[in-house]
Amino acid sequence: MEQEIMQEVIQHFRFPEHLKEEIPYGSGHINDTFRLTFEGETGKPRRFILQRMNKEIFLRPVELMENIVGVTTWLRGKIISNGGDPERETLNLVPAADGNCYYRDSAGDYWRAYLFIEDAVCYNQVEKPEDFYESALAFGHFQRLLADYPAKTLHETIKDFHNTEERFLKLQKAVREDVCKRADKVKDEIAFALSRESLAHTLCRMQKNGELPLRVTHNDTKLNNIMMDRATGKGICVIDLDTVMPGLAVNDFGDSIRFGASTGAEDERDLSKIWCSLELFEAYTKGFLEGCGGSLTHEEICMLPDGAITMTYECGIRFLTDYLSGDTYFKTHREGQNLDRCRTQFKLVADMEQKKQQMYEIIANYANIKQHKCFKTNL
Ligand code: ADP
Ligand code: MG
Ligand code: MG
Repeated sequence: MEQEIMQEVIQHFRFPEHLKEEIPYGSGHINDTFRLTFEGETGKPRRFILQRMNKEIFLRPVELMENIVGVTTWLRGKIISNGGDPERETLNLVPAADGNCYYRDSAGDYWRAYLFIEDAVCYNQVEKPEDFYESALAFGHFQRLLADYPAKTLHETIKDFHNTEERFLKLQKAVREDVCKRADKVKDEIAFALSRESLAHTLCRMQKNGELPLRVTHNDTKLNNIMMDRATGKGICVIDLDTVMPGLAVNDFGDSIRFGASTGAEDERDLSKIWCSLELFEAYTKGFLEGCGGSLTHEEICMLPDGAITMTYECGIRFLTDYLSGDTYFKTHREGQNLDRCRTQFKLVADMEQKKQQMYEIIANYANIKQHKCFKTNL
């Protein structure tokens, strides 16, 4: 069945004629990804990525693809006018036979295809600060190239994704309902979350009142969503554009810090191993600001640490909400895993709160601004 579907799908894209190989590919957790190799006309094989989109997560695949077409077309134009290589520095969709950028198969699943980016790799873990720096540079550059894109025209592919206020309300509801009778066991975590309610509001409010601009955001700024040149180790292309949406640049920055600058695994039980590494924070900040190249506003730069704290807090309250609700959203492989995840996030929040001043100093240094002037509202 699966093989028949594959054949049907492959026939419906504008690929070369002779398929030589088709293999499951990469270590993404969201979509089903395959690498296809065809015989090229000159004898050199031609490769493509073919993906079945995750229909549980992405409920509006056509809107999602509209976002990807909009953003990749825009990037292509910018890359060409900068003298770059548009086949390596952005994703390139392969059209389906009917001219659409996707194909809906007979089982109702949506597929899309990209040119395969050759001679590039992606890493799952931050092994050394340089890789983290490279990913920051690439995400910053992405932000810069899209700085004048009309972000409002993008669809919200996952509603309220970083609406921290909404996430906070959901936590309150889960505490009130306490369906699994777990609230008693996690009084400290609940108190930690509720006592920081202002974190849920600050960035949302600043966005609403126009202090922070709505931008094109990536929303999955993991290291393995950057292709790195195999030979030079330089970040070349931002991939995985499913969650591209209007949002806040500080949230993209913040989410990278949340997972990438943490010294331990997201579900580590030994909290003494968990803190926010300032060395990694610095590597990312340097790369991100360099990549953004002056496209961020003064307020955005000032709020970068708040982005990191807020994203970590938001993630922590989501894990706590899920724990209280009986682990229905995040997959768990052992008892209490969502609670462990919540605890690492809250440990990071507390650690980042302590380190905020140092974070400002690092940012001020790379943004080339006088610290007292920029951060006067925060000091
Ligand atoms: P997911 O949402 O499941 O993470 P991705 O779009 O990130 O899906 O793709 C999964 C993996 O496939 C990536 O981590 C990368 O290794 C590989 N990949 C995706 N697109 C390309 C491409 N255009 N060229 C080469 N490899 C790719
Ligand atoms: Mg991915
Ligand atoms: Mg993805």
